Amino acid sequence: MLVIMNALTTEAEIERVKERIRELGYKDHHIQGQTNVAIALIGNKGTQDRIYLEGLPGVQQVIPISKPYKLASRETRQENTVVRVGGVAFGSGQVAMIAGPCAVETREQTIHIAKLVAEGGAVMMRGGAYKPRTSPYSFQGLGEPGLEILAEAREQTGLPVVTEVVDPGTAPLVAQYADMLQIGTRNMQNFTLLKEVGKLGMPVLLKRGMSANLDETLMSAEYLMSHGTSDVVVCERGVRTFGNHARNTLDVSIIPVFKRVSHLPIIVDPSHAAGDRLSVIPLGLAGVGAGADGLIVDVHHDPEHALVDGPQALLPEQFTELMDVLSRVTVALGKSLQVPAST
Ligand code: PEP
Ligand code: MN
Repeated sequence: MLVIMNALTTEAEIERVKERIRELGYKDHHIQGQTNVAIALIGNKGTQDRIYLEGLPGVQQVIPISKPYKLASRETRQENTVVRVGGVAFGSGQVAMIAGPCAVETREQTIHIAKLVAEGGAVMMRGGAYKPRTSPYSFQGLGEPGLEILAEAREQTGLPVVTEVVDPGTAPLVAQYADMLQIGTRNMQNFTLLKEVGKLGMPVLLKRGMSANLDETLMSAEYLMSHGTSDVVVCERGVRTFGNHARNTLDVSIIPVFKRVSHLPIIVDPSHAAGDRLSVIPLGLAGVGAGADGLIVDVHHDPEHALVDGPQALLPEQFTELMDVLSRVTVALGKSLQVPAST
């Protein structure tokens, strides 16, 4: 349920409602709307407690929320949430481009690619220092030295950094270096990790589980939000299907439905969906065409020698081509491509 306070309510009335929610055995969550304050009840089932809230001073309305996810639901918040990471805004109506290597391999490789994508118009950079790999024999990432390299790349380019967190133990360390924490597809339902990352209160890029449906994805966003972060960007990165012509099947159909049921921004990762650089540009355009608030793409200047996911990394000239096409496509959609804060 959601308690909507009237526009002229006082601090004391708001506090009284929160107290009553806690007396009923639930958690209260403050939501500052444009004109009204709303307070969500977390943990309740059904609407039997409605009568204990409706009569309190300052309460305008108590409305049931039909979805199992509450904080992530558009029933709780009608207007789009804009997630800000440094100067970058997701969900503002402008399309944001995140680009970089799949993994931080060396200082030279990462800084080279960071400069290249910054010059090409990316507003944020990506790169994994901790890599969740299917094989235990594959490169697992550089760990903390990789985070230091990412921090240096940010210093040199001004681009905020998103990087993956793979376990609760290293989450606080990653948070010291990153501007946004990424939860990968394999960890979307690692609830211990979601709780710990949520508590850090930082912006999170939550990748959809490779076999997760829409409700499951939003319940994972709800874990993050109910533990302390309000800044969640969801990422569609392809799901498992019987199709074997691509690494995953990019599910663009989730985007319009997601937008109807949630106020959170959603972006698309055409690189991990395609698994092949030849398909990345068309899939990225499909994502933006379907309403995505941004893209995250792998870029590498020497993909033949990349330690992770070389075949799907765009070459520098392909990245330029993608940005060029996107600048026109976004205009045709009545949007625009976000530009770096300094330009
Ligand atoms: C990544 O972005 O580096 C990654 C591992 O992606 P995913 O979790 O979507 O496979
Ligand atoms: Mn990858």
